[in-house]
Amino acid sequence: MMNKKDSKTNKFATTLNNVSVNKEVSKVVLIFLLLLFFIANFITQNLSQSQDIWMINGQPLHVSMLAGVTASLGNICILLIVILFGKVGFIISLLLLLSQFPRLLSAIFLGHNYATVQGVFTNLLTITASVIIFMNHRRVVNYQKKMREQAITDQLTGIPNRFACFELMNDLISKHEKFVLVSTDLNNFKSINDTMGHTVGNEVLIEICKRWKAIASDPENETVDFLARPGGDEFLLVIRSYEDTAAVERAIQRYQDALEQKITIDDCDYFLNASFGYAEYPTDAETPIVLISYADTAMHEVKDSSKNDRILHFTQDLAKIEQNLATERKIRNALEQDTIFYYLQPQYDVDHKLRGFEALARMKDADGNMISPGVFIPVAEKIGLIDKVDLSVFRKSAMFFGKLINETNADITLSINISVRHLMKNNFMDEIRDILEKSNLQPKNLEIEITESIMIDSIDKALEVIGEIKDMGIKIAIDDFGTGYSSLSYLNKFPADLLKVDKSFIDEMNASESSRQYVATIISIGHIMNLDVISEGVEEPEQLETLKEIGCDFIQGFIWGKPLPPEEAEKLVL
Ligand code: C2E
Ligand code: CA
Ligand code: CA
Repeated sequence: MMNKKDSKTNKFATTLNNVSVNKEVSKVVLIFLLLLFFIANFITQNLSQSQDIWMINGQPLHVSMLAGVTASLGNICILLIVILFGKVGFIISLLLLLSQFPRLLSAIFLGHNYATVQGVFTNLLTITASVIIFMNHRRVVNYQKKMREQAITDQLTGIPNRFACFELMNDLISKHEKFVLVSTDLNNFKSINDTMGHTVGNEVLIEICKRWKAIASDPENETVDFLARPGGDEFLLVIRSYEDTAAVERAIQRYQDALEQKITIDDCDYFLNASFGYAEYPTDAETPIVLISYADTAMHEVKDSSKNDRILHFTQDLAKIEQNLATERKIRNALEQDTIFYYLQPQYDVDHKLRGFEALARMKDADGNMISPGVFIPVAEKIGLIDKVDLSVFRKSAMFFGKLINETNADITLSINISVRHLMKNNFMDEIRDILEKSNLQPKNLEIEITESIMIDSIDKALEVIGEIKDMGIKIAIDDFGTGYSSLSYLNKFPADLLKVDKSFIDEMNASESSRQYVATIISIGHIMNLDVISEGVEEPEQLETLKEIGCDFIQGFIWGKPLPPEEAEKLVL
């Protein structure tokens, strides 16, 4: 029985074998070919001794002549064995062919059967062909092996590279074997490269690899580790055969300890450390790409943190931070390149007469995929770029609308969303005036939607700005009404024109009488306050019916129109 140490050594060897050896042809094929060879051989022997003559189409046929056909079949089997089974096949074939010589030679010299001379030569020919095929095969296999070694090996350090690491992970995943992927990155390695040059930098990397390779292949390890270098000062570790994450962290700690011991090159001492982040298959992620990205996320978190811990397990919270960072980059990029655009969603009165459109921000990532406003608007709010997004949508949609109204004379309203943060900015009024002037849009055709919940925080300043907007003749809508904390007294102070009932109430409306009553009450309150009421997110005919019954003034929802590109929306006006 294999002891624990042997089994670990063996596992490490398999790990490397798995990524460097091609899959072999099944043994069943070999057995089949051998069987065929023996049968062909047996028939050949019997046929060659036969004295029978068959008459075919009046012509005599010596049955012994058929021996040549079956002998060729046997030789084909031999050649196939050499082609398919390489070295083993070659040895088997050689033994089979050579083992026939005593019988053939004794038939000639003792039995004086000189027809067998042909068999000797056929055998010699097959041996020659086998040798040629085998030599050629070996050359190709060696070349392939070399190419493959090169493809999976990091040239500088001689350890496996990213490709090898992927192969191993895919292999483990196909066997549903749990493992941890560790991503590590040396801290401040760049400064060694910059101050001491790349040659010293390379020597440092080689020394680190030497130490880490020794740890990875140490049979005393609690875990089975596989080390790879994808490039630069980054390394990947695949750790398996562990009990729990404490064992994983103990394993990683060994690499960290080895790294932190001084490295001396050309009489200069270097002190290094690294950040380690890890993610587990299958609990954290199920594909190599996602595992690497999660392990990287955790590693970057460690790098950026001021804490002393240098090892971190990935969590979903980290993914969110990373996603937000990615979204932030996309927003900054889109603003820089002015690629934020907008769709227009129609609003109708209950008789399906067009009231106007709400402009909704849209953004695509580099691959051309839409990013949902539900994702990028909150990020833009958080990083203080929402005013730039609002403004971009406002400017572009106002230019389009101004032109459309001038051309068609249509009495329609453009609703834009303005975040309260933006509203509070001192130059907001100047921005409005500037855009109205440039777009030729009349204030009466513009409406500004403000979300109710946010206004409550800074009501006085908000009321001041809103008063100014109203004085210009622009309409004000209270967005997402019902989701915030508005009180009636507050609503009373608020000089709005339109109340937008949030989609969540419309969704619930027909589920119970009390939900229906709730929407009916909102509409009544709106009317008492002299406001028009619009319902958002209307999708079903039943919802539309109910809203008509309880006196809603306007409808916005997929039932009558989704947000559309401006050129499409324009067709609804013409
Ligand atoms: P919102 O202002 O409440 O806009 C209405 C949202 O409901 C839009 O989502 C619209 O596509 C969606 N919607 C309308 N009718 C239906 C319907 O029948 N069914 C369903 N399922 N959805 C419907 P969108 O475009 O994803 O916008 C999401 C939110 O992003 C907006 O909610 C708004 O709060 C914000 N937003 C969009 N553009 C801007 C902008 O330019 N500035 C600011 N500050 N916020 C914006
Ligand atoms: Ca809105
Ligand atoms: Ca809304």
